Amino acid sequence: MPDKIGFIGLGIMGKPMAHNLLKAEYDLTVFNRSQQAIEELVAAGAKAAENPRQVAEKADVLITMLPDSPDVEAVLAGENGVLAGLKPGGLLIDMSTISPVVSRKLAEAASQQGISMLDAPVSGGDKGAIAGTLSIMVGGSEADYERALPIFQALGKTITYCGPNGAGQTVKACNQVVVALTIEAVSEALVLGTKAGVDPEIILKVLGGGLAQNRVMEMRGPNFIQHKYEPGFKVKLHHKDLGIVLDTAKAFGLDLPVTPLVDGMLAALIDQGKGELDHSALLEVVEEHCQSKH
Ligand code: NAD
Repeated sequence: MPDKIGFIGLGIMGKPMAHNLLKAEYDLTVFNRSQQAIEELVAAGAKAAENPRQVAEKADVLITMLPDSPDVEAVLAGENGVLAGLKPGGLLIDMSTISPVVSRKLAEAASQQGISMLDAPVSGGDKGAIAGTLSIMVGGSEADYERALPIFQALGKTITYCGPNGAGQTVKACNQVVVALTIEAVSEALVLGTKAGVDPEIILKVLGGGLAQNRVMEMRGPNFIQHKYEPGFKVKLHHKDLGIVLDTAKAFGLDLPVTPLVDGMLAALIDQGKGELDHSALLEVVEEHCQSKH
């Protein structure tokens, strides 16, 4: 019998992921803070629960896809939380992007109840979540990874075992540095090139054919050209992720030179009330910065 799955957090990412689990014919019970997404999943064949504990009581494997570390902590360890409902032998899979330190702490708390935990954050964005082509980076025991593999295969394409608990979150932190700094670099190139009179579409096309080629330009090219920033991945979430990066760097005594600058740009967007926009809106901060010097 395949594992029965519980899923908590049906947002931009979690909702299409839950749909893909239904398509793969898993028995699925869902919970979310807002009701509308639950109703949509129930219409597609899922069962609804009234709180995280109830989801866990009906599941062998419990997946969370929540915004941040405090949300995962509350859903797992809070009153009526998952840890109160999941049976020994159960498996928790946190696919949210959270702090590797918090992730390890939660895995330790779960193990004291005979419950295993994997951290399995993803990249590939909403488009990857819908298409079932996410990259999934996994931390935890290899036996738990093997158990979860069929589930991951329903959600993603590139699935990588990274090491013990927290290793998946660590790799995700690395990923978020590269994506943020790439958005900033593409933005600087576009501001420079267009100011000097070249069509931005030409710039992206030419850069896409050489060493400067990158997925940010491929996936967010239209956003940069049209100055439209429908999320996608929200500015506020990327700021949260760079906070995780900087905390992790600090814990290891590292002083990253450029990440704090780009994080400051995301913070500036949030101050302007633009935290819900896609992170490609970083172009606006770069444009303002470049203009302000003249
Ligand atoms: P989102 O804000 O769209 O969704 C979060 C969902 O969690 C919402 O539906 C919200 O109602 C629910 N929620 C929050 N607190 C809850 C609680 N206490 N109990 C029950 N439900 C609760 O966020 P998202 O874009 O889907 O991102 C989820 C996670 O995935 C984040 O950690 C994010 O960093 C990561 N991520 C996002 C993307 C992306 O492109 N959006 C890509 C990779 C990773």
